[in-house]
Amino acid sequence: MYDLAVINGKVWIDQAFHRMNIYVLGGKIACLSASRFEATEIINATNEYIIPGIIDPHVHFALGTKERQSKDNFMTGSTAGAFGGVTTIIDFLDPAQNIDELNTNYQRRVEEAKNCVVDYKFHATMRQPNQSLEDFVFRMEQLNLTSLKIFTTYSDSHRRTDDDAIKTLLKLTTYHPFILIGHLESDQLIDLNPDLPYQLLPLSRPLIAETEEAMKIAGFVKETGGTFYMVHLTSGETIEKLKANYPDLINRKFMIESCPHYFVFTEESLNKSDGYLYTMAPPLRTKNDQVKLKDNIDYINTIGTDHCSYNIALKHRTLLNQIPLGIGGIEHSFSVMHTLFGDKIIDKMTKNVAEIYQLPSKGFIKVGMDADFAFYEVGAPFTIRSSHSAADNDIYLGMRVTTKVVRTVLRGKIIVQNGRFLGSLGMLLKGVDYLG
Ligand SMILES: [Zn+2]
Repeated sequence: MYDLAVINGKVWIDQAFHRMNIYVLGGKIACLSASRFEATEIINATNEYIIPGIIDPHVHFALGTKERQSKDNFMTGSTAGAFGGVTTIIDFLDPAQNIDELNTNYQRRVEEAKNCVVDYKFHATMRQPNQSLEDFVFRMEQLNLTSLKIFTTYSDSHRRTDDDAIKTLLKLTTYHPFILIGHLESDQLIDLNPDLPYQLLPLSRPLIAETEEAMKIAGFVKETGGTFYMVHLTSGETIEKLKANYPDLINRKFMIESCPHYFVFTEESLNKSDGYLYTMAPPLRTKNDQVKLKDNIDYINTIGTDHCSYNIALKHRTLLNQIPLGIGGIEHSFSVMHTLFGDKIIDKMTKNVAEIYQLPSKGFIKVGMDADFAFYEVGAPFTIRSSHSAADNDIYLGMRVTTKVVRTVLRGKIIVQNGRFLGSLGMLLKGVDYLG
């Protein structure tokens, strides 16, 4: 007797949909079969597509200081995600310079994430280190942190890591089990003039700042043999330069993540009356850049939302340096991206993320894996009208899509169905015990 049977659905296995029944026992996928077996709970999914639960590798819940706190905490942000088929998120530890800070930041973030309703994990984050990098990486291993984020910019807030440290870290990726990930914008090419109105955000953080820094780091990857993952790439221009110069590295040693907003909004949105809501770093680009980005979707490994929502009261300012940069969107990520790109987006939001970030029980519909599923239907275009984020604004509202997430299952438990959240508690994915 199984705990749960999902019958008659179209199930995503090995890059294709198959009519198949899924049987769940103890939160794990126990059997995939065309035959019917008994189960305590049965979901009839005749009209539905079933894919592995979405893994969002880039979210910022409960970020910032009291005065400038992002709106979604782990509970509200992950609940919004659950409505969009998300069953795992990866958030970030605060930047650390040494092991002591890493320990403190880890403990604090684990505490803050306790009410997360989907499974979760963290990226370690570094700012200019003042201690042995290998010791730092070794401590990460003990905490089962399989990724380390660096910034090449934000020297103004002391988050930048210099080139020598980046090269050393890349070398360390060749014999320690972690991946180096980074926010790539050239610090020198960014203009932080305090008098800039927010409409000039794209001039303040120009595309060339991203492209040049990506090219530089790709050079370091080649030199060191390391592995790197670029977060929130904004533009097809950067991909085309990487393809032309480092065809052997791209998507193998140099991985690329992009975000839904770069595919659906352009810098034109900044000129709307509520343009301040469209501010994030790196910024939205031109229509031309966006076309190139879409053309190069095959060179993007993963999709992360960079979800970091703020209320209007914090965003509604005239000057750029008074606005906290960031937007929400975790709830709409799969629906929007699947509407745009169809089935080719599925692995970029499930399998690829699980493989890159070493989530051994996630990302596949396969016997032995966690029973995490997103169920969706595809039909006539409809307008996005619901937002479960705690923020009082959501720039995806009003958008037309054709893909609708109708149910979410986390480790065998239905957590969202018929537009209702049914309650759940996520698990910190950690340590040797997690690996079995
Ligand atoms: Zn981010």
